Amino acid sequence: MYYFTSLALSLNELEDGVAPTDSRRRPDQRLMEDGRWEEANAEKQRLEEKQRSARREREREAASQRTSEPIRRRCTSRELPGTLVRALRGPDHSEMEVDKVVHLPRLSRVAVCGGTHGNELSGVYLVKEMLKAKNVMKEEEEGHVSVLMVLSNPWAMQQCRRYVNTDLNRCFTHAALSGPVSKKDPYEMIRSKELNAMLGPKGSPEAVDLVCDLHNTTSNMGLCLIAYSDCDWICLHIFRYLQASTTVPTRSTMEIGPQPHGVVRSNIYTTMKYGVQHVLDWVRFYNSGTVFEGGFVDVYTMVKNIDYPRDGETRNITAAIHPQLQDRDFCLLHPEDPLFQTFSGETLRYKGKEPLYPFFINECAYYEKGIALSLARKRRVALPRIRVRAEQEQQANEQGFASEEE
Ligand SMILES: [Zn+2]
Repeated sequence: MYYFTSLALSLNELEDGVAPTDSRRRPDQRLMEDGRWEEANAEKQRLEEKQRSARREREREAASQRTSEPIRRRCTSRELPGTLVRALRGPDHSEMEVDKVVHLPRLSRVAVCGGTHGNELSGVYLVKEMLKAKNVMKEEEEGHVSVLMVLSNPWAMQQCRRYVNTDLNRCFTHAALSGPVSKKDPYEMIRSKELNAMLGPKGSPEAVDLVCDLHNTTSNMGLCLIAYSDCDWICLHIFRYLQASTTVPTRSTMEIGPQPHGVVRSNIYTTMKYGVQHVLDWVRFYNSGTVFEGGFVDVYTMVKNIDYPRDGETRNITAAIHPQLQDRDFCLLHPEDPLFQTFSGETLRYKGKEPLYPFFINECAYYEKGIALSLARKRRVALPRIRVRAEQEQQANEQGFASEEE
């Protein structure tokens, strides 16, 4: 078969007695071997996203441990969340250690960023308004947190475009940030380094503790928080607080829509304003020692993106989102539900085997990325009780550690 040797052909076959970490045991490999391509791809994406979020979590842990904390506390902070994550993720949550309080670092500096995409106007006007208010606010009114307001992409804002040369959101990789500065670089590459100097350096102890990056979407997603890990307990607790304290559907990038790009709608602007106020309120409560009870939140984890049907030669799209799907973000999409309507009027149906939740349906900025919608799986994530580490606890720990040493 295709001139493969028998060794190449049988490489993926499972044998008895192989190590638990053997790649042949990967569920996506098994599905692929069974010819279940779609499921294998979805499983591969899920595994890769899981690996990526585990890596990000390790990086974050490493970054938080690089602060001037004594070694003993470093151990606690590393072991406790890890243990809890495993315990909490037991299939029936029977091992959940509900009484334990996880102590997390203080959030002393928070950045609120608008205009990362220059034509997403709610964030642009909200940050401008907050900057005005800050000028008349007395320092002590800031309370327990210093809030940094940033207009991320001023040049794109001036032109009311998503970006000038390249998407700013894609310029924050370690490789891009650590490269030399050249005047020939795309504007957003230069700007990302400026922002990194202002808010970072990324992953360092000097970096701000929380970034609230404000975005709009043309999709009907309501107020939606995007966290980059399902064990980012700060983000998930903030999310739960937002759900409990606002009447808008909440689902820490903040995406709010529907609002066309280059347009500001007052209902969407107001939703964003309340969202940001609630986030900052939560941070103040947290920093002042409030204990946030554990519990569960429902999160949507991305499974895959779906592109528009396209002409094989021209690559032009040949269909639009089906009217029955339009604006139904986060409503379950079942196999055989209408997905697209071709320009000649034919209905194309969802051919996946598993019902999934669509979001970013018909987002304007994603036409160029080849994404008509994204699909997610809904999962229930258990959250531990959390509270901020008190200064005295930190000092007591340090003293205890010192006397143990002696
Ligand atoms: Zn955006």
